Amino acid sequence: MHQPGIPHLAAADAEVAALVEGEARRQFEKVRLIASENYVSAAVLEATGTVLTNKYSEGYAGKRYYEGQQFIDPVETLAVDRAKAVFGVDHANVQPYSGSPANLAIYLALVEPGDTVMGMALPAGGHLTHGWGVSATGKWFRAVQYGVRKDTGRVDLDEVRELALAERPKLIFCGGTAIPRTIDFPGFAEIAREVGAVLVADIAHIAGLVAGGAHPSPVGHAEIISTTTHKTLRGPRGAMLMSDAKHAKALDKAVFPGLQGGPHNHTTAAIAVALGEAAKPEFRTYAADIVANAKALADALVERGFDLVSGGTDNHLILIDLTGKGVAGKPAAKVLDRAGIELNYNSVPFDTRKPFDPSGVRLGTSAITTRGLRVEHMPQLAEWIDRAIAAGDDAEVAAVAAEVRELLAGFPMPGWS
Ligand SMILES: *Cc1c(COP(=O)(O)O)cnc(C)c1O
Repeated sequence: MHQPGIPHLAAADAEVAALVEGEARRQFEKVRLIASENYVSAAVLEATGTVLTNKYSEGYAGKRYYEGQQFIDPVETLAVDRAKAVFGVDHANVQPYSGSPANLAIYLALVEPGDTVMGMALPAGGHLTHGWGVSATGKWFRAVQYGVRKDTGRVDLDEVRELALAERPKLIFCGGTAIPRTIDFPGFAEIAREVGAVLVADIAHIAGLVAGGAHPSPVGHAEIISTTTHKTLRGPRGAMLMSDAKHAKALDKAVFPGLQGGPHNHTTAAIAVALGEAAKPEFRTYAADIVANAKALADALVERGFDLVSGGTDNHLILIDLTGKGVAGKPAAKVLDRAGIELNYNSVPFDTRKPFDPSGVRLGTSAITTRGLRVEHMPQLAEWIDRAIAAGDDAEVAAVAAEVRELLAGFPMPGWS
């Protein structure tokens, strides 16, 4: 059953309650390998389900447009102070509704429509909001995009420098959604300085690793740091913008009133709780375990003949090119889901297939590490992945799913009992 219980929802709306219960069970029974997902703690879950959702509080602590902020102001101040302490930054804004609006606020704060901006191309591992064509950021700005080297699967900073010198962007984004390797923040900062651009580190995927000391910090290198709060950081769905004092005012104004109305106070409270957890010594262990699991899983996959983009991983994320296995990403993701192993199909760099039917799958270890799986479980996980992808019939797939359920039954999940 869902924890905390949902008796009022069940009584008032059995239809929605049944779907929530179904989703909770699904999360309990599956190996959740989607690299951007996690399991929040019961405390974070409780904070998101509070009466704070009833309150309007446009503005910032001490400068609101509505009365009655006696408890909301300290909640937001707590979240801001904890973000500043955990990441070691001068300024934090915890109001962005999610990662994409947070990034849009950066554009609003620093550039004009038509200005040149630079980011990593989506098919190479970047994010839509780093200037990809279908995104507002690609339509309203002149976006130039860097990729990765074909031979290494990694960013080549010499190429990035060349492109930056030729195009003179005002903003440079580093970070992305499918980057299995350490991001060289000092290297990007040097290029940004050289061309007079503002460097933005989008650490949405790796914020928890940065907070836990398992990935170098962008602080002191990137003038602006953008992150979601719900990926490795293990908070509620939300986002934060962090910066030095110089950009504080412009970013705040861009978030509100530039882009958003009232902040989601229940989310803000849950962000504060998650940041409180991230400040504890246990979180450093968690971050180290995420990376240890990813490396162990990568090794086990390579041993089974899987072709990993860049050959392995430095963080929580693994990108597999399935071309050599004779299967495309989408059918592989679908059969794995039926086998109780949840991940997403994903383009690989220089993919010859279409984005909706690409050659690869992406997986990550943040959720299974929260669940309690450790390096000793990774060879078994690789075996299941291999077996399910090669499975000839439904019975084999169902057999893997049963083994998955049996293992996971021994690992409690926050949000389920
Ligand atoms: C997830 C992600 C985002 C967007 O976050 P949403 O909350 O889905 O809008 C932005 N940038 C990067 C690098 C991401 O991984």
